[in-house]
Amino acid sequence: MDAADLIWMNGEFVAWDDAKIHVLTHGLHYGTGVFEGVRCYDTESHGPAVFRHQEHVERLFQSASMYYMDIPFTREQLREATLELIGRNGQRSCYIRPLVYRGYGTMGLFPLDAPVDVSIATWAWGSYLGDEGKANGIRARVSSWRRISPDSLIPQAKATGQYLNSILAKIEAHKSGYEEAILLDDHGYVCEGTGENLFVVRGGKIFTPPLSSSLLDGINRRSVITIAEDLGFEVSERQISRAELYLADEIYCTGTAAELTPIREVDDHAIGTGKPGEVTRAVQSAFEDALHGRSDRYAHWLDPVPAEHFSKVAAS
Ligand code: PMP
Repeated sequence: MDAADLIWMNGEFVAWDDAKIHVLTHGLHYGTGVFEGVRCYDTESHGPAVFRHQEHVERLFQSASMYYMDIPFTREQLREATLELIGRNGQRSCYIRPLVYRGYGTMGLFPLDAPVDVSIATWAWGSYLGDEGKANGIRARVSSWRRISPDSLIPQAKATGQYLNSILAKIEAHKSGYEEAILLDDHGYVCEGTGENLFVVRGGKIFTPPLSSSLLDGINRRSVITIAEDLGFEVSERQISRAELYLADEIYCTGTAAELTPIREVDDHAIGTGKPGEVTRAVQSAFEDALHGRSDRYAHWLDPVPAEHFSKVAAS
């Protein structure tokens, strides 16, 4: 990976190579952590700006609270720390990874006596499913693994241990020659990708599984629903069966890492013409405009990095 200069750990800016933890860190053993994936874009209108920053910070606090973790910083402190870190790392665009985890101090499954540690890292990271995938679409398969059920875990929390589910699906997809997995929920309805929400287009209308289908309430999902509706498309949140994927005219997925990536094949069935369709292209282009600050309408989704933080690069 592309190392940056600094990582923020529990209130301090430390050198990238010194951002280390003890092997008896609770979260390393039991997956007791929550995190976010956020991006900063070098926007045309506002310079470097974090996309929907407040929403990501809010979801981090919600994930932490669902696992009984009290974050020892305020939302505003984490937001400020992130903006300062980006500036001090001199990164005009980057991926941002805030992490809240049970630290070193106790072992065993009762976690509430372990400290809650917080770190924020930033690094340069291209689109997760590749630029070629964003342009021409990717091939996906329906996973033999089901998305974690709300009977056992909390699908709405972005918790580290929960990602073993996505990782099994990702490995299976990769080993069988596909770029991404689509997980069904515990009732057999389409849920989401390993790190993306899904949208299906049929007859000019857009469908996406509802929040009750055990999915993560993706921030890009919300953005893309708003954008598609603003473009005049009808967007419905409803259960989607596996066969509806095969019968779709178009499918695309959204996520901070993947941005908006078309899906051109599912289980070896070409979707529509086998190329990204018109609706996908229209929504993708408006979404890219929003991310890169080319759209006044969505300018309020950008949290600009104050210029003074960039001058700290030279100073430090
Ligand atoms: N689902 C899962 C399981 C994810 O990990 C992600 C990435 N955070 C998403 C959906 C998309 O969420 P967002 O748009 O907020 O990145």
